[in-house]
Amino acid sequence: MKRDPAEGAESTEAIVLRRISYGETDLVVQFATRRLGRIACFARAAKRSRRRFPAGFPSFARLEIRVGPPGRADALRPILEAQAARPHLRLPRDLPCYAAAGLLVELAREALPEEQPEPEAFDALAEALDRLDEGPFAWGELLAAEMRLLAPLGLAPRLGSCLSCGVAAPPRRAACFDVARGGVVCRRCGGAERTISGVARERMLAALAPLSGEAAPPAPDTDPRPLRDAQRTMVEFLEHQFGRRFRSARLLEQVAGRRNGSTTPEGPGILGPDVAPPRGSGPDGRSR
Ligand SMILES: [Zn+2]
Repeated sequence: MKRDPAEGAESTEAIVLRRISYGETDLVVQFATRRLGRIACFARAAKRSRRRFPAGFPSFARLEIRVGPPGRADALRPILEAQAARPHLRLPRDLPCYAAAGLLVELAREALPEEQPEPEAFDALAEALDRLDEGPFAWGELLAAEMRLLAPLGLAPRLGSCLSCGVAAPPRRAACFDVARGGVVCRRCGGAERTISGVARERMLAALAPLSGEAAPPAPDTDPRPLRDAQRTMVEFLEHQFGRRFRSARLLEQVAGRRNGSTTPEGPGILGPDVAPPRGSGPDGRSR
């Protein structure tokens, strides 16, 4: 007997992570959802007609969906209904915002567990896409969004204290950052090749602080360069952790790397040598 897909149907907020054509008329859509985690769904006849799904499934769109349980053979959930909540239509018109949204969606595809709800991480992704849809792009906001998306999943880099000895890194100071181990390492424990500036560390840690009414909103990023550099280190960290390249990170470098970074084309470009931190600027504050 064929199972009725509406039996056991569930409704949830969802964000389109990926669409794949299936045959001539159908779509397979991967979503981040608030109640069901990352799920793969089947949208019958979605390519042929907009009658069943008038909003379609555009990239980055936030939808309200109703889905059936996963199929026994292919684990795909049938989409029964889909309505746009926030279509994020402005995103494709602003390239830096579009690239940043692409990076967050790529990250969500890797980081969110399948069929397991992670509402905090979902909310972080949804809020970040809303902000990017309003624009303009800011490196500090992207770093904050990445931290909020990763932290509930236990995947955020450790920035407050040394990975090896646990000593607290002084606030607002640059710290050595070990890309492979995913956190700061004090100089007494050997330091690391990369550094994260004090302003970037503060911004990323503040993103995780519990929101209180008294907390001042983060100051606007007056100098985007240390934040842009921290984002490059973040991408190195992410690519190491997940063992893959994030294509949108390259696009973001192309469309925003220079505009918000070097003031002249001859200035320190994206391939320039990494500047070594001044001696004694390590998290332990002592000269070697
Ligand atoms: Zn240490």
